[in-house]
Amino acid sequence: RRRRAESSEAMETDTIAAIATALGESGVGIVRVSGPEAVDLVARLARTRPPLTDVPTHTVHHAWLHDREGRVLDETLVSVMRAPRTYTGEDLVEIGVHGGTIPARRVLRALLEVGARLADRGEFTKRAFLCGRIDLSQAEAVADLVAARTERGGNVALAALAGKLARRTEQVEARLLDLLARLELNLDFQEDVEAVDRETIGRTLEECRERIDDLRRRIPWGRRLREGAAVVILGRPNVGKSSLFNALLEEERALVSRSPGTTRDYLEAWIDVGGMPVRLVDTAGLHETGEELEAEGVRRAERLEERADLRLVLHDVTAGWEDEDLRILGRTAGRPRVLIGNKIDLAMEGADEPEGRKKPRNEPELRVSALTGEGVGSVRERIAEVLLEGVGREPADEIVPGERHEDVIRRTVEALERAGMAWKNGESEELLAGDVRDAAEALGEITGRTVGEEVLDRIFSRFCIGK
Ligand code: GDP
Repeated sequence: RRRRAESSEAMETDTIAAIATALGESGVGIVRVSGPEAVDLVARLARTRPPLTDVPTHTVHHAWLHDREGRVLDETLVSVMRAPRTYTGEDLVEIGVHGGTIPARRVLRALLEVGARLADRGEFTKRAFLCGRIDLSQAEAVADLVAARTERGGNVALAALAGKLARRTEQVEARLLDLLARLELNLDFQEDVEAVDRETIGRTLEECRERIDDLRRRIPWGRRLREGAAVVILGRPNVGKSSLFNALLEEERALVSRSPGTTRDYLEAWIDVGGMPVRLVDTAGLHETGEELEAEGVRRAERLEERADLRLVLHDVTAGWEDEDLRILGRTAGRPRVLIGNKIDLAMEGADEPEGRKKPRNEPELRVSALTGEGVGSVRERIAEVLLEGVGREPADEIVPGERHEDVIRRTVEALERAGMAWKNGESEELLAGDVRDAAEALGEITGRTVGEEVLDRIFSRFCIGK
């Protein structure tokens, strides 16, 4: 982190501006300005008394902003924050404008006219990283937080933002760098002193590998949390697919966004199941049909079914298993699925299911009423169980590697294993030092100590403008 701070002196520092809030009807919008000229430029639009250039840092000021021709832009609240205690680490001004598209755009345009440059994606956060205020894992956590689709995803992002992931890896990195320094001392003064003995080397390598392995074991769980899963609801018409779909959404309307325009073939919504974002799909189209028009819908539904992580196969307990139910059972055999008998509110207490065809296998079945909500909670639990099978235990400390870190961790473990082998085989300390250096360099990519411009560009390009 310190190394970054030193190199930031040479960095080009112009003043950037961008709209930080989503455009659209809303209460307020925020225009952000950062860089050495930030206060000056806004002061030229604000004409407050005293001028903004003279106000104390971290203060808020009411101001009517005007463009260079003196036309009113908006009535605003201007927050003046002087370096270094700011989001970017530079002088930073946040202008609270009225919501909607016009006020924010007008203020931004006026700022560009007086000399600000339009910020690139993630450039505010990138500056915070470049000046050493945050490390790379924290910068990435900002994007993860903005993109989080569940509370749990938000918690994991916040933990990384607080530097938990960075501290975990930095501890190991520091030990490896210390070991490396000692190995190099041994090489330099071969006979006279021993900066580290053979046994300590082996123990250090083993301990470092264990700590990184612990992170590696969290990868599958982290990926599930990030990427979520697709769950489709299958069943013949009228068994209650849409009703179950709605019942599963019911409890958390606030988190759900229905995708518009897809109702022809299927309905989908994101729901939160055990912290995972789950894309729930109601495939109204997956049934046999002779109609040309529907055929395409059926094909699309079939593709969805094939790619889904889990299938909820629904049937009506008052009707028993009919031919089409059996066809769907056959189709989904061998793939992850949960059988669900719906409409138990209509089934008579203690009565058997109607005679007729029985389901072919002795597969457990959940019994629910999509209408009354009975048993819907157990469907939810079962979905979480199946999707989390084999991804390991969820970490209580919320420290989870992100997508970019997966490869970094893999390379670190490989280098540590090579070093471990070299140690066991009694190889030279020179060879060992090479592997230890590789491990430390790889691990340094998490906090960004050892990443190049290209990686940075890729990371920040997935941010929004104004972040
Ligand atoms: P889909 O065609 O599979 O999507 O089925 P729908 O969800 O549209 O349901 C078909 C009919 O069954 C509707 O009239 C629902 O109100 C009714 N229904 C669905 N689930 C239940 C249930 O658990 N109990 C009862 N009594 N009726 C239900």
